[in-house]
Parts: sequence; structure tokens; C-alpha cells
Amino acid sequence: MKKTLITGAAGFLGSHLCDRFIAEGHHVIAMDNLITGDLKNIEHLFHLERFEFYHHDVTKFVHVPGKMDHILHFASPASPIDYLKIPIETLKVGSIGTLNLLGLAKDHKAKILVASTSEVYGDPLVHPQSEDYFGNVSPIGPRGVYDEAKRFMESITMAYHRHHGLDTRIVRIFNTYGSRMRLNDGRVVPAFMGQALRGEDLTVFGDGSQTRSFTYIDDQIEGIYRLLMSDYVEPINIGNPDETTILEFAEEIIKLTGTNQKIVFKPLPQDDPSQRQPDIARAKEILDWEPRVHRSEGLKKVYEYFKSLSPEELRQKEH
Ligand code: NAD
Ligand code: UDP
Repeated sequence: MKKTLITGAAGFLGSHLCDRFIAEGHHVIAMDNLITGDLKNIEHLFHLERFEFYHHDVTKFVHVPGKMDHILHFASPASPIDYLKIPIETLKVGSIGTLNLLGLAKDHKAKILVASTSEVYGDPLVHPQSEDYFGNVSPIGPRGVYDEAKRFMESITMAYHRHHGLDTRIVRIFNTYGSRMRLNDGRVVPAFMGQALRGEDLTVFGDGSQTRSFTYIDDQIEGIYRLLMSDYVEPINIGNPDETTILEFAEEIIKLTGTNQKIVFKPLPQDDPSQRQPDIARAKEILDWEPRVHRSEGLKKVYEYFKSLSPEELRQKEH
């Protein structure tokens, strides 16, 4: 039986990865320090013999006994309000945490996949963004703590591949949404849906002309799984190229939820990227992957999820 370590396992993406690798018949070792995650995302797996949980901070020495075949390093705050609140932890998990996991992969001769991000392109001057674009990141801006940690993660991962011959994969994840996102994590999908459900106005930052391209969780997990199983070492974008402005997106959420609330405008956060859309030619060619779930369908599913939350959970505001 394959043994797979997943860091950040109690978070949004990590918990869905646990489900997928359990469904594929792996023994899953889940690791998380719960700084932004929640055990309730994985508690349905606790009864399984093939599932173990380690409450551990990956910036501290990581030791896991026995054999290991794969490591998926997903531990990191991921929402702008999270990483602005805990900037040093964010830098440490992307740098020291990645170093620790690469060392663990080397000891176990395991294959390692690291979770990078479209933020490595910063506020991109090239559109759409293909993997050979080097990006436009401010190292000293507030978002630099996340972007530069992820850029370092990519560099050190390639160094371990080239210098130690480690079997590595790098996924550049574009904005992904789905069940188990924290309603108060500040990202735009839970923010707008939470506001609609609480009967509050929707807060659009700036004039709403900035664009994003949203990927449904099932498509993202499929792309990550295919990348791990491939033999491709260079970074690959996984994202849905269906681009929208944030203002149009707010209008879409108002229509979907039937809320009577209006849109209000708030200041644009510093260094908020003005446009983002993945070029997925590489994912199509190498992984035979492309997104299957249309935004209207995916948003309906995630709205059903948020509607099922308790009134206490709904009251947790994002700002
Ligand atoms: P999340 O906040 O839901 O999950 C992150 C998890 O990592 C949490 O459970 C948190 O407690 C854990 N964690 C953080 N620091 C840790 C540490 N030092 N030791 C152990 N655990 C730690 O975020 P997410 O959206 O699931 O993102 C997961 C990964 O995917 C991150 O690496 C993120 O950068 C990357 N990513 C996500 C998106 C997206 O749209 N969701 C986009 C690009 C990249
Ligand atoms: N955004 C917004 N209102 C909110 C939360 C976010 O207008 O209440 C905007 C944000 O400024 C950004 C976009 O939505 O332009 C996506 O933000 P998110 O935090 O989800 O992800 P990221 O900026 O990392 O892509």
C-alpha cells in the first residue's frame, strides 16, 4: 500500500486531498498545526486504520517513522488576510517548512509535490500567465511574505531535484473554491457568500475591475493528482481560464443567492493583482487535464455548503 504524507491536511485543499488519496487506496499521514485549519475538515477519516493525524508545525524538525512514497506539502496560510496577520509564520512555512519536507523526502526516497501559486506571477504584466513568465512581485510589499516564500519554495525544490536527484513536482494553483473554505478567511468566495447569507452588502475592493479566474475544488484536486502521477518536474499551472472581473462576480453572487443587498466599494488592498488568468496549455499537453466544472455549477454547490452551516458559524465575520 502506498504511504502518502499530506501537510496542511486540516485546511481546505489538504482535507480534499486526504479524501482523494484515501479513495485511491493510500495510507494517508495527515500533518497540520491548525493555525488556519480545522480538525472538523478531516474528522470523518479518523476511524480509518489507513489514516493518521500528526499535530505538528512543519517549521520544526519533521520525523515520520517507516516507509513513505509521496509527500504533498500544502501547509501555508493561503488567504491574504491570514498571511498579512501571520507574516513571519507564512515566510517560515514556505522556506524552513519546505526545507524540512525536502529533507524528509530525501531520507525516505519519496516523491514530493509542493503547492505553489499564481501569486509567483505577482501583479502580472503578461496575460494570460504561462509558466515561463517570471512574474512581477514586490519583495518588500505586504503580499511579499507569501509570494516570495512560494518563489523560494520553487527554487529550493528545483535545487533538490538538480543537486540531489530528488523526484519533485511543483503545482502553481490559481484561485480555487469549494466546501470547507473558512467563511471568515477573507477570500472573495466565502466573503461574498457569507455577506449574502447574513443579509449584508457585498464589499467590492477598488472599482472591481481587477480580474480572477476561479477553479472548482474537484477540478483542482484532479489536476494535482495527475501531476503527482506524471513524471514532469517543471511547474504546471492548474486553474480555470474562465476570467471575470470582481464586480461582475459580485453581481453573479447576488443573482445566485437572491439577496436584496447591494454592492459597496472599499479601498483596494496594496499590491492586489489587477489581472489573473492561467494559460493551461502545459497542463492540457502534459497531464491531459482541463477543468470540467463551469463556474455557475461550482458556485451553486459551494452555496449549498455555506447554507448548511450553523447560525454560529455564519456569524463569524470576515472583517
Ligand atoms: P488553508 O488555510 O485552508 O490550509 C492551510 C493549512 O496549512 C491549514 O490547515 C493550516 O493550519 C496549515 N498550516 C499552516 N502553517 C503550518 C505549519 N507551519 N505547520 C503545519 N501546518 C500548517 O489554505 P488552502 O486554501 O487549503 O491552501 C493550501 C495550500 O495551497 C497552501 O500552501 C496555499 O499556498 C496553496 N494555494 C491555495 C490556493 C487556493 O486558492 N486555495 C491558491 C494557491 C495556492
Ligand atoms: N475582494 C473583494 N472583496 C472582498 C474580498 C476580496 O473585492 O470582500 C477582491 C480582492 O481585492 C481581490 C479578489 O477579490 O481582487 C480576490 O481576492 P482573494 O482574497 O479571494 O484572492 P487573491 O487576491 O489572493 O486572488
